[in-house]
Amino acid sequence: MSLLQSAQHYFDRAAGIMGLDDRTRAMLVNPEREILVHLTIERDNGHLATFTGYRVQHNSARGPMKGGMRYHPKVDLADAEGLAALMTWKTAVVGIPFGGAKGGITCDPKELSEAELERLTRKFVQKIHDLIGPQLDIPAPDVNTNADVMAWIMSEYSKIHGFNPAVVTGKPVELHGSLGREEATGLGVALIAEQALAEIGRSTADSTFVVQGFGNVGSNAARCIAERGGKVVAVSDVDGGRCDPAGLDIPALLAHVAAHKPLREFSGGEPITNEQLLTTACDVLIPAALEDVFDAALAERVQARVIVEGANAPTMPDADEVFRRRSIPVVPDILANAGGVTVSYLEWVQNLQHVSWTLQEVRDHLALTMRSAYTAVSDLARERDLDLRSAAFIIGIGRVGRAAVLQGV
Ligand code: NAD
Repeated sequence: MSLLQSAQHYFDRAAGIMGLDDRTRAMLVNPEREILVHLTIERDNGHLATFTGYRVQHNSARGPMKGGMRYHPKVDLADAEGLAALMTWKTAVVGIPFGGAKGGITCDPKELSEAELERLTRKFVQKIHDLIGPQLDIPAPDVNTNADVMAWIMSEYSKIHGFNPAVVTGKPVELHGSLGREEATGLGVALIAEQALAEIGRSTADSTFVVQGFGNVGSNAARCIAERGGKVVAVSDVDGGRCDPAGLDIPALLAHVAAHKPLREFSGGEPITNEQLLTTACDVLIPAALEDVFDAALAERVQARVIVEGANAPTMPDADEVFRRRSIPVVPDILANAGGVTVSYLEWVQNLQHVSWTLQEVRDHLALTMRSAYTAVSDLARERDLDLRSAAFIIGIGRVGRAAVLQGV
C-alpha cells in the first residue's frame, strides 16, 4: 500500500467512526492545489540536468498551509499528496493556525554538490514563488533538507517579493530562524514518549529506547531522551547501526556523527542491522527515518511496549492492526512528530512580529502544546475505547471540518 493509500485509509477509518457527513468529507478529501515543475540547472561540469519538483497544498481552512520540503529519489506527487494531508490533520491536532502542504524535489542530494543544490533550490523558488508566501504556504525542512536550504528559499523569495523571512521556517538562527527549531521535532518526540510511558506507569529514566534514523529527528530525540536519563540501547541510519544493552553513549555518538564519521563505525556497542534494530526488545521504539517501515510480518516481531512515530507514515495499515491486536500503543505521527511544525509556527510568529524569543520560551511553549495535545488525544481514546491514531485523526478532521463548513463551499 502506498503512503497516499495509508493516509486515506486512516482518514476513512476515523471519518467512519465519527460519522463524517458526505458534504464535509467532499470538502476535505482532495488537495486544493498540486504543483509540478521541471527544473533545469547547470551542473558543475557545465552540462544541463532537469529535475522534477512538487508542492501539494492540501487544505487551507484553518490558515496558511505548512509542510516540509523533501529532497529524495523517491519523492513523487502521490507521496506528497499523502504527506500534505497528514500535515493538515497534524496542525489541527496541535491546534496551530495552519493548514497542510508538502513538497520536494526528486533527486539524490548525495550526488549533487552544495552549489548544485543551491541552484536547484533557487530554481524551484523561481518556479513556485507566486504560489507560496507567509500567508499562503510556508515550507520547512524535511528529509535531506536543512537550515541552509531554507536560507536559500528565503533569499530567492525575498529577491522577488522583498524582505519576507516568514515565507519559510527552519532557517538558520542568524537569518531570522528560531532558537529551538532544529531540535523541536526530536524534543517533541521525547516529551510525547514521556507521557506515553507515564500511562503505563513508567518514566523516561527507567526505560529503554530504540531509535531508527539518526538525522534531525532521530538524533535530537536520542539526545533529549539521554538528557532525561533514558537508556538509548540501539540507533541506526540508512547504512546500519549500533546497539548496547547497557545504553549507548549518546553525546559521544553525536560527536562522532558531527565529525562526518559513519554511524556504524562508532566505537561503542556492537553493529546491528536495521532489521535487527526494529525487533530489539525495548520499552519505546521510535521510527525516525522514512515511511512504510512496519508491515504486518514485522509488526508481529516487534518487542516494544510503546511505539512513538518520529517519522511520517512509518506504520502501514496492516501493521497498525497487528499493533492494535497485540495491545502495543502507537502514538501516531500526526501527534508524535508535531513538535517541528509547532516551533515552525513560533518562528513564523516571531518573524511577523520582528521579535526573538529565548530558547526557554520556545521550549516552554512547545512542551505546553505537545502535552495538551497528547492529553486531548489520550482522553478521547480512553472515553471512546479507540486507538491513539483514530483519536488523533478524529480531533484533526473535526477541527478542519468545522473550519471548512463555517466558510462554506
Ligand atoms: P533527515 O534527512 O535529517 O534524516 C533521515 C535519517 O533516516 C538519516 O539518518 C538516514 O540515514 C536515515 N534513513 C534513511 N533511510 C533509512 C533506512 N532505510 N533505514 C534506516 N535509516 C534510514 O530527515 P528528518 O528530518 O530527520 O526526517 C525523518 C522523518 O521525520 C521523515 O519521515 C520526516 O518526514 C519526519 N519529520 C521530520 C520533521 C523535521 O522537522 N525534520 C518534522 C516532522 C516529521
